Amino acid sequence: MPVDHEQVAVAAAWARVRQNLRASAGQRLFDRWLKPMELVAPDGDGVVRLTLPSAFMTDWVRNHYAERLTHEFRAQLPQVRDVVVETATALQTRIVPPAPLADPAPVPVAAVPQRAPVEHPALDPRYRFDRFVVSASNRVAFNAARAVAEPGVPRFSPLFLHSGTGLGKTHLMHAIGHAFLDTDPAASAVYLPAERFMFEFVAAMRARDTHGFKARLRGVDLLMIDDLQFVAGKDATQEECLHTINAFMDAGKRVVIACDRSPALLDGIDPRLLSRLGGGLVADIKAPETELRHAILAAKLAEVPGIAVPGDVVDLLAGRIRGSVRELEGALNRLIAYASLTGDTIDMAFAHATLGEMLAGPAKRVTIDDIQRAVSAHFEVKQLDLISARRAQVIARPRQVAMYLAKRLTTRSLPEIGRKFGNRDHSTVIHAVRRIEELRGVDREIDTAVRTLLRSLEG
Ligand code: ADP
Ligand code: MG
Repeated sequence: MPVDHEQVAVAAAWARVRQNLRASAGQRLFDRWLKPMELVAPDGDGVVRLTLPSAFMTDWVRNHYAERLTHEFRAQLPQVRDVVVETATALQTRIVPPAPLADPAPVPVAAVPQRAPVEHPALDPRYRFDRFVVSASNRVAFNAARAVAEPGVPRFSPLFLHSGTGLGKTHLMHAIGHAFLDTDPAASAVYLPAERFMFEFVAAMRARDTHGFKARLRGVDLLMIDDLQFVAGKDATQEECLHTINAFMDAGKRVVIACDRSPALLDGIDPRLLSRLGGGLVADIKAPETELRHAILAAKLAEVPGIAVPGDVVDLLAGRIRGSVRELEGALNRLIAYASLTGDTIDMAFAHATLGEMLAGPAKRVTIDDIQRAVSAHFEVKQLDLISARRAQVIARPRQVAMYLAKRLTTRSLPEIGRKFGNRDHSTVIHAVRRIEELRGVDREIDTAVRTLLRSLEG
């Protein structure tokens, strides 16, 4: 079947399958698990691909609905060989907006965009600037993203965003796209994951139509390439990427790149491309700090009214899940999904039972050096004094606090701790630990200092 016809047929079948599922599964179950499913552009191989936003949801739907989905699809469209449920990735092109459920009519042809060979996945409507929570760790990237989306001559190009995974690069790129198109509806923007760029380019080469490929990009005003690390080491695509980026910049257009590392650390990339990439604005996003983790949870919770998550559970998530915003969101979603499935209230016990291993998290490794630095800053003494022989009280007390924290927060033995504090004996460390424990019971100031330091060192 030609792809375009197949798209329309599959989309129409999908609309009917959804109606049937809603009728048989019941509204609550449908809303929670089945409604978020999205249809991926068919490849013409008779396999229907559906995606869900998380691995957790994917597992659930596979376990409970895999056969049912195949059966339902075949009933609508006998040529369907198989139905596959997957977790959504940036790569998939979601062609079919979920059909409005109130309307049982087949999806009109116009609702299914025809796919041009250079097609970008639609911008995700959830990824807008107003839903991006800003704090110190991402402020530079956020402001740069806002600036690059402003109309007029771009102030810099390219914008190169980099960070570890799950920290908001893709969100910011989509937000740039939205903002740019909102201010100038006549403008055009392309968002392409680098893998997709590669795929499109290789397909164009096979079809001997690289000319057409380039021509289609030429009319575009804003080019965004996500996950650039994927082209590292792939020479032909890289070369093409370089040409494309150069052409855009020479034409004074906007280019936004996202990557999992800075240009300086990208191996296997042509130095000419690297210098061009580093020549605009390079902004990184750092791991989310405590306040940001709290603010993000609060923002997400505000979006699901009627779900009560007590403060201590929010603190638990924000305190333990530090690696990425994606994990943090995932944990919250999992809590909410489980609770709505079991009807349980969300409390600490429920959170521990549901999130178990996620909460254990990668324990933050605090080093004695970190402790000495924090203590010296807190008490305004020199770090060197902490390891010196000086016995004046103004130095000795902070030193004892530092030893106490080293015992509590690291796995170092007493002799090891002693050595790190100017070769002191392990009995000195024991004495310091006992002394601070005692003082915490009677000396408010020391107790407050220890608490403050514990909080800042533990994250
Ligand atoms: P990356 O592309 O860096 O791997 P994403 O942009 O896909 O990360 O972000 C992962 C998830 O976290 C997305 O759902 C995104 O909306 C969310 N997210 C990341 N940073 C923020 C933020 N500062 N405010 C709100 N949501 C965020
Ligand atoms: Mg991304």
